[in-house]
Amino acid sequence: MSKVKKTGKMLNATNKLRNEMGRHFLAIEQAFREGKPTAWATAGTPVELLYSMGVQPMLPENSATISAALKKSQNFIELAEDQGYSYDLCSYFKTNVGAVLSNAEMSEGGTRKPTFMLSSDVICDTHVNWFQVQSERMGGVPHFTIDIPHVVSNTNNRQREYFKKYIREQLWELLDFITEVTGNEYNEEKAREVAQNSYEMGKIWQEVFELRKNIPCPVSTRDTFGGLFPLFTMTGLKSPIKLYKRMYREAKERVDNGIGALEQEDYRLLFEGIPFWHNLKFFANLERWNAIIVYEPYVYAFTKYTNPNITKEHVLNNPVESMAELILSFWYVYDLETRVQKFKETVRDWKIDGVILHNNMSCRPNACGMYDLKRRLMEEADIPCLIVDGDMNDPRKLNETQVLNQIESFIEILRKRKKK
Ligand code: SF4
Repeated sequence: MSKVKKTGKMLNATNKLRNEMGRHFLAIEQAFREGKPTAWATAGTPVELLYSMGVQPMLPENSATISAALKKSQNFIELAEDQGYSYDLCSYFKTNVGAVLSNAEMSEGGTRKPTFMLSSDVICDTHVNWFQVQSERMGGVPHFTIDIPHVVSNTNNRQREYFKKYIREQLWELLDFITEVTGNEYNEEKAREVAQNSYEMGKIWQEVFELRKNIPCPVSTRDTFGGLFPLFTMTGLKSPIKLYKRMYREAKERVDNGIGALEQEDYRLLFEGIPFWHNLKFFANLERWNAIIVYEPYVYAFTKYTNPNITKEHVLNNPVESMAELILSFWYVYDLETRVQKFKETVRDWKIDGVILHNNMSCRPNACGMYDLKRRLMEEADIPCLIVDGDMNDPRKLNETQVLNQIESFIEILRKRKKK
């Protein structure tokens, strides 16, 4: 196996990400100091509505990724397992249980007791169970959950409209719940301002992805995996928009000058799934083979505004209603058929040579349908696919050598295809 060449260039703007994260944690500290309401929220919930209602969000999943990056997640996970939570359960959940048990600082993935919790099953039912468990363990924190029906292959338009209405009603109920728990009232003007920021942030991130269609690709996972943080936690705020605009400008300059994130780009890959936060360096290994990940559906999904029918005007005029539509358009409520079509389009538009699918031991929604996806893409789009086993937060479930060997063989297949 050849050695890793340190060729991958991170955008200078990405270095500023730390400041954004710092800003987020400071806002949380300040909220506690000033007695402002706070809420835990799961990924995929409309964090915008929390900001609109003057509630400071905290996302335990993001905190869990921090624990992993600091190599603390395994310890937290094992603490949770000592409490009886199974080896097979979601490692984000167990990281959170262990971190709370250890009174971990925010800087190492701890999350303080909130005023209330907000979950939904838009991505997975673990989210709901997770907050139920933690609400009880923390002495009965009020918990609101949004039930999201899933769009399956035979969902027709009439049902979709009904789903939308059903979600919309729950969002209004959520606002009533927040008023009841915190005393804060809904303010339409504030909601519009937050919606505008959220829209702008999602769109600029999509534009960064558009630039990645270029050969060579100007942006690698060094920028995208880290850059994801504000999309979860700060959506609706102004400051991360500036950061994303900087990233865009820098990436555009690279494109205009024919500069790629790698010195030499031979293979363009798509990586589906949550990255190994405990081993982000792993992805630099691809550079040995001049291979670059140019698209990550998981990262793209959180730009939210992926449905072209949801316009800016619609979002600004209907800050609550449009959230219901966005939730229903979210990548992870797609049925397999839609998912296959999306992947095919992406492979074509981003000129992808091969697809790596992360069979995440922790995450059923991520791993579900992966073998069907692989088969369909190989048969219908003639695109080589590789499934690798791992886990986003639990280092015990990633065999690095084995996965690297698999990838080396995979690259060999790509090399032979290019030669033909
Ligand atoms: S099971 Fe997957 S989607 Fe659900 S919380 Fe865990 S990592 Fe997230």
